[in-house]
Amino acid sequence: MTTAAGLPLPSLSRGRFAYSLDGAAADGGTAHGTLTAETDQALFDACGVRVAFTHRTGGFSPEPCASLNVERASGARDVQLNRQAVMDAFGCAGAPLLSPNQVHRDTIVVARDNAPAAIAADNARADAGCDAVVAACRGVAALLCFADCLPLVLVAPTGQFAVVHCGWRSTVAHLACKSLATLCEQAGCAASEVNAYIGACIRRECFEVGREVADEFSAAFGIEDPIVLPGKSADKAYLDLALAVSLDLQRAELDPARLADTGLCTVCNNDLFYSFRAEAGTCGRHGAFAWSAEAGQTI
Ligand SMILES: [Zn+2]
Repeated sequence: MTTAAGLPLPSLSRGRFAYSLDGAAADGGTAHGTLTAETDQALFDACGVRVAFTHRTGGFSPEPCASLNVERASGARDVQLNRQAVMDAFGCAGAPLLSPNQVHRDTIVVARDNAPAAIAADNARADAGCDAVVAACRGVAALLCFADCLPLVLVAPTGQFAVVHCGWRSTVAHLACKSLATLCEQAGCAASEVNAYIGACIRRECFEVGREVADEFSAAFGIEDPIVLPGKSADKAYLDLALAVSLDLQRAELDPARLADTGLCTVCNNDLFYSFRAEAGTCGRHGAFAWSAEAGQTI
């Protein structure tokens, strides 16, 4: 439970999480493994909310998507096992899971009831296209998929949370601050009380875009430098997606002290994360995950 001072200030560090899956080993026995994620252990200890940005290692998928590919659209057995491994590693095997069809827009689906039928209905809505989910009830997990786009997780003092997929289109559409507003409305809290977490994504030094994309950012945020910097040629620019999302959240009154960023670049750390650019479009997806144990169920 939270203290009068609210959530502990956010802090991300690397953690290793063991899982075991019955029947998943090559001989039909139990498969044991360990995955790695950037997580906030103090947050989990304080309020039972697990925030995790998974690495690409420790899973079942072969090259070129080795190995913890959690891509939603894939029906492949290795990917299904990877998704089960994530749930098991974070102590919520079999729990209701929100898993949207991400389409680079600004649709938000809110889950208000963790009953399986209610979550199935939420996922049916999210199938139509959704880039942010808000878990307004406890006992629900969410897993969104990434390979360069920016993963954002927001946590309210109540333990309600949002997981957000910020590609450049959704960022220009201000999905980050729209998700923050929706979470605050559901939680009955102020934006300044919310913790925000940014996972690995493509960073400015690796994110050269066309001038037309840069112009959309300049128009959306009202500033040029330092979100948009000159590229190698006049028709190109370098884009700082993390700064744009941070600025969006702070303009919506998120406390800068409550924003934690891994600072990691997916392109520069292609051994740890999938990168659409670094792998020329043939790659798996790592995850942004959140789970809130039901009250009294803190693990
Ligand atoms: Zn980079």
